[in-house]
Amino acid sequence: MKVFNNLEVWFVTGSQHLYGPETLKQVAEDSKIIAEAFDQSEEIPVKVVFKPVLKTPDEITKLCNEANYATNCIGLITWCHTFSPSKMWINGLKKLQKPLLHLHTQYNRDLPWGEIDMDFMNLNQSAHGDREHGFIMTRMRLNRKVVVGHWKDVHVVSDIAVWTRAAVGWHDIQNMKIARFGDNMREVAVTEGDKVAAQIQFGMSVNGYGVGDLVKLVNEVPEAAIDRLIEEYNDLYLVAEEGRPGAKYHENIRYQARLEAGMRSFLESGGFTAFTTTFEDLHGLKQLPGLASQRLMASGYGFGAEGDWKHAAMVRVCKTMGKGLPGGCSFMEDYTYHLDPEGMRVLGAHMLEICPTIGDGKSKLEVHPLGIGNKEAPARLVFNVLSGPAINTSLIDMGNRFRMIVNSVDCVMPEADLPKLPVARALWIPQPNLKTGAAAWIYAGGAHHTAFSQAIDADFMEDFCEMAGIEFVHIGNDTNLSSFRKELRWNDLYYQQAGALKFL
Ligand code: MN
Repeated sequence: MKVFNNLEVWFVTGSQHLYGPETLKQVAEDSKIIAEAFDQSEEIPVKVVFKPVLKTPDEITKLCNEANYATNCIGLITWCHTFSPSKMWINGLKKLQKPLLHLHTQYNRDLPWGEIDMDFMNLNQSAHGDREHGFIMTRMRLNRKVVVGHWKDVHVVSDIAVWTRAAVGWHDIQNMKIARFGDNMREVAVTEGDKVAAQIQFGMSVNGYGVGDLVKLVNEVPEAAIDRLIEEYNDLYLVAEEGRPGAKYHENIRYQARLEAGMRSFLESGGFTAFTTTFEDLHGLKQLPGLASQRLMASGYGFGAEGDWKHAAMVRVCKTMGKGLPGGCSFMEDYTYHLDPEGMRVLGAHMLEICPTIGDGKSKLEVHPLGIGNKEAPARLVFNVLSGPAINTSLIDMGNRFRMIVNSVDCVMPEADLPKLPVARALWIPQPNLKTGAAAWIYAGGAHHTAFSQAIDADFMEDFCEMAGIEFVHIGNDTNLSSFRKELRWNDLYYQQAGALKFL
């Protein structure tokens, strides 16, 4: 069973009539075997559907149109077993609106040294056929992914799986609806952005709703629904003494359960998959949604605090791309530093809203007063984040384009307990180190908010950005600050021209 059983990629082989029916029959048989092997791979999370070999311009254009209209088709994998002249592909590729992976492979892994003859040569031509195929996509300035190697090679399968997951994320954001409860935190720059440009670029629609509409639903939640959630909390979390029935803060936890149920019902009824809140607009709500936002994130919703809709979208996309993989995903903020030159680290957290999917499984449910917002003390889950690799991703609006900044990081466990810190927290070392990593991040304009994921790495995000046609910069172990700054400047020039370069 595939993780995304309702989605598929189409396996498309290019050829032509030049070789006669016998060769074409063999091409089709081989392609079918490859498509079926990918379809059976546990790693590739969608169905892989074999499509009949394409031999003419009309067939190619028809298939590209069909792919555009097929709502469950999230992309095409193409390769040329034989030679498929690329002028035949121009009209189809011009219309294609789905992501494309160009697989540069060969049916036979090895040259049959003792047996090779011209029949073998004519059947196995991808070494030059795929170059012709690549030329036209480069000539048309088409974004795509090229994967090279034998189709049974585990690295090839894994590259395809990464691209497929990126395509699932891209598919998800096309119709994403983001509900904003309140506007951005006043005067904050990086969480602002052009929502119209975002919809043109990504498909997602971002709209604001009066908090009063939410308040109505929250107030209507029946006590029985709250009782059921309290039972679930008791099963899943270690509820602090003062939060138990009859104790000082029990009602505060019940109120977060009320918020959770009310927000969930709002999001479900509107078909939303991501949302934002802001502590500056809680009119009619008794608490900032803390536990409620954490729980909604854990069930798959994207979330952004302080009205940050771009990171709400990215949390949702990262959650979708990583579905079924080990490790979780959360909204995150670079909060505080440990600047000991012997081991500089970032402590990542938020006021409340960190998703328990990234936690160590030992969440405590606690209630503490919140210094800002002038509301009642909110309930929240408190936990540590497991050690291991992760990424922080930030999407910013550069005015003429969106830029995605990804920093690969290594999470570590805290050296000691943090008994007085009343929020979930992660501790990480940015790659290549905090000094270079933070400088590169700041030069790139990366936000203080991020989508943090343990399930996917920078390769997933790079593939996603290629599909979106946006700028991608990666800060990793090979980042050199001087080169990185030049890359940012070159990108500034490229993205002034990128639109004009298409179809020159
Ligand atoms: Mn924040």
